[in-house]
Amino acid sequence: MSVAGNLLSLRRSLPQGVTLVAVSKFHPLELLCQAYDAGQRIFGESRAQELALKAAAMPPDTEWHFIGHLQSNKVRPVVAVASMIHSIDSIRLLRAVDAEACRASRRIKVLLQIHVAREETKFGFTPAEIERELTPELVSSLSAVEIAGVMGMASNTDDTERISRDFASIRSVFDSLRLGVLNDHPEFKVLSMGMSHDWPLAVARGSNMIRVGTTIFGERNI
Ligand SMILES: *Cc1c(COP(=O)(O)O)cnc(C)c1O
Repeated sequence: MSVAGNLLSLRRSLPQGVTLVAVSKFHPLELLCQAYDAGQRIFGESRAQELALKAAAMPPDTEWHFIGHLQSNKVRPVVAVASMIHSIDSIRLLRAVDAEACRASRRIKVLLQIHVAREETKFGFTPAEIERELTPELVSSLSAVEIAGVMGMASNTDDTERISRDFASIRSVFDSLRLGVLNDHPEFKVLSMGMSHDWPLAVARGSNMIRVGTTIFGERNI
């Protein structure tokens, strides 16, 4: 199937209100162009340099989401082009992104990465950490970032019950922040969960943004 065909069938099966981020990391520009021509505007990248190269080459109305682990020395080039960063995994990084966005006179949306999966990535806040570290003082000290929601990944397993439970845990962190420290922040509304193999389970648990690569572009050569 073609990229356009894959996108079309994915869009047909997505409920209304769920935003699709086309994860284009490691794929060549040619495939991004095919997706763009099929109407896709939001792309997800996980490396700063690759993001910069692709952003320079794609049409200006392309929207870039950064989804990979972000090191502090890469904050500047990412803030320069991304409209959303999904992978805020420490308060230090949150402050660094805020400072850089402020310096560059940009506003940027960020998601707090929540870690619930059994193994896998070591990145992200545990539910207890985010409750403890995201204080009202911290939230009101931010000037150029908008905390727009949370992002999380389920355990990498075939056990669908485990996957559903992980998504439910991420969802409950989202709900408790929304009703707690971020309750007067209406922009806090994005629940980014679900990838190629597990997005239907994520959507069933309330995800309103999915990040899909392989189903659209095929396997990555890395
Ligand atoms: C690579 C990646 C995806 C997409 O994964 P697929 O299995 O190709 O859909 C989604 N989210 C994050 C954080 C990723 O790194």
